[in-house]
Amino acid sequence: MINLKIHPSSWRHTLARINGAGYHCLLFSEQQSDMKKYRCPKCGEDTIPLKAKYLAGIWQVIPCPVCKTRLCANPIILTLAWFCYVWAAAWFGFSAVLEESLEYLLYLIPVWLILDFLNVRLVPLSAMKPGHPEQP
Ligand SMILES: [Zn+2]
Repeated sequence: MINLKIHPSSWRHTLARINGAGYHCLLFSEQQSDMKKYRCPKCGEDTIPLKAKYLAGIWQVIPCPVCKTRLCANPIILTLAWFCYVWAAAWFGFSAVLEESLEYLLYLIPVWLILDFLNVRLVPLSAMKPGHPEQP
């Protein structure tokens, strides 16, 4: 009935097709595309897809598709973000053990998703160069 196979380059087009024509769905797909791309600090273009931005949030190095610069999440801010992850995992993990209730592990899931969301949205990217990882 509805074809949900979405090719990245035709994302906006496919969304419009799924929802049928209309101002609301156009607005929706515009917002989607805004959320999907993140700005490369080197060339200033909105080129980084959500998936790559997420990978940067778990300490992966990602290339900019346009200028080929190697990018990573700002290490200082990412360290703070991961401090929150560890704190949340420890807090809910210990609560689950001490209270002998797996409920606390269920509470961890939305907290973890919120942290992931904040990680992707708030941690800025930095450009890397071999031998100069702290380059501004
Ligand atoms: Zn770039």
